[in-house]
Amino acid sequence: MTHPAQPKASHFINGAYVEDTAGTPIPVIYAATGEQIATVYAATPTIVEQALSTAKAAQKEWAKMTGTERGRILRRAADIMRDRNHDLSVLETYDTGKPLQETLVADATSGADALEYFGGLAASLTGEHIPLGEDWVYTKREALGLCVGIGAWNYPTQIACWKGAPALACGNSMVFKPSETTPLCALKVAEILIEAGAPAGIFNVVQGMGEVGGALVTDPRVDKVSLTGSVPTGKKVYAAAAAGMKHVTMELGGKSPLIIFDDADIDNAVGGAINGNFYSSGQVCSNGTRVFVQKGIKEKFLARLAERTGNAILGDPMDEATSFGPMVTENQMNIVLGYIEKGKEEGARVICGGARADMDGYYIQPTVFADVTDEMTIAREEIFGPVMSVLDFETEEEVVARANDTEFGLSAGVFTKDFTRAHRVIGNLEAGSCFINSYNDAPVEAPFGGVKASGVGRENSKEAIKHFSQVKSVYVRMGDVEAAF
Ligand code: NDP
Repeated sequence: MTHPAQPKASHFINGAYVEDTAGTPIPVIYAATGEQIATVYAATPTIVEQALSTAKAAQKEWAKMTGTERGRILRRAADIMRDRNHDLSVLETYDTGKPLQETLVADATSGADALEYFGGLAASLTGEHIPLGEDWVYTKREALGLCVGIGAWNYPTQIACWKGAPALACGNSMVFKPSETTPLCALKVAEILIEAGAPAGIFNVVQGMGEVGGALVTDPRVDKVSLTGSVPTGKKVYAAAAAGMKHVTMELGGKSPLIIFDDADIDNAVGGAINGNFYSSGQVCSNGTRVFVQKGIKEKFLARLAERTGNAILGDPMDEATSFGPMVTENQMNIVLGYIEKGKEEGARVICGGARADMDGYYIQPTVFADVTDEMTIAREEIFGPVMSVLDFETEEEVVARANDTEFGLSAGVFTKDFTRAHRVIGNLEAGSCFINSYNDAPVEAPFGGVKASGVGRENSKEAIKHFSQVKSVYVRMGDVEAAF
């Protein structure tokens, strides 16, 4: 019997599924059971070539369409995604192991938001008229050309749409490579775009590991690379793109601070810390994993946090009552368990969790460490799992300096009732995506991305348009040309 998650084929090129079993087989494992639910094959050089040449050929005609026409297709795709939200959410759960309770509201829905938002913007991408006496300059916002998208494994549908929607709205084509760990969902995005009326070849999906990504990034036909991944991968991909003078967007990792002052509403702050550490079992780049709590409320905060974390329901991700799923792979589980051991060895105090959950699948208990100090490994390195580090602080000045003492700069949050302080602290934090009395909201209307080692460029919002288009300026002379000879 074929599993419902088994894709029709591994790749989607020129408007159709394509298979090439000569590629390395990639097993797709359902994280909740360890069962193999599908197999895809890494793209061979022939497949990579087909995808790139198709995308290159399709782009010019796509860019010639009006923004209104392109936008209509994207908005139709958004409607189809919303109509199929349940099936797409089940697939997302198979791909990642994230509970259906989450995927029903966070994945195809946010992908659809991106398609709708950038579909709406497509017709508004105009230039400027710059008068210069009798002469003038006009500008045009043009597509970059052929874009490559490379995704991480935590939000496979959302990442494909966050990259694909703005790229296509601007008149680019895309070849998208999902993470080898979660290869299924992007294929559905490609299928839906075709169903919505997109011309064949403007959004293609190829599978594979880093070397397939490498082949895409170094191809001279590629004009832009947008990567979501870790900082080490980002450095490699950025360097490879620079060698070809390509545009880049880098959405990378973080070790973001969440600062809770003693005047904060404790339950809201605890809610923010839970959302910023345990959603998607902690596999979220922008998580506020360094939770700085002002000394006066520390024990009260920890007690309430432990109580509420105890309410997490670990279980079958397909059961909508389940609120906490497994790690995406056995390997990721072992990496996170290694960090938990390190935290214990280095003297942090376990408030709750601290071990693998006693059940099948790659589950780790939601874990809170208190008495964490700035030097501990768990406070310095991105863990990408359900491990919250709580650190104490006394003054605003001190906490801002400690919060900024990291190579990362993706996100930051502050909980306080003092609004002057909230804005001042956020103003002083080195981070791209910030929150006041909230954490981890990522509406498509807001720019998203990091500073320092956490990234380059922004996704979502009108900012993303700037990163998927370029400006041509045209000087128009009305009179005669003066020349020296
Ligand atoms: P990786 O950096 O390991 O991989 C990211 C993608 O890059 C994968 O598709 C990977 O392929 C591919 N890749 C790896 N090496 C190369 C290479 N040399 N050239 C081209 N492509 C390559 O990240 P993970 O998948 O492990 O995802 C977790 C990381 O992603 C975390 O650090 C997290 O913070 C970050 N992230 C950032 C987000 C943001 O928006 N800022 C959002 C989500 C996650 P493969 O894995 O198949 O080998």
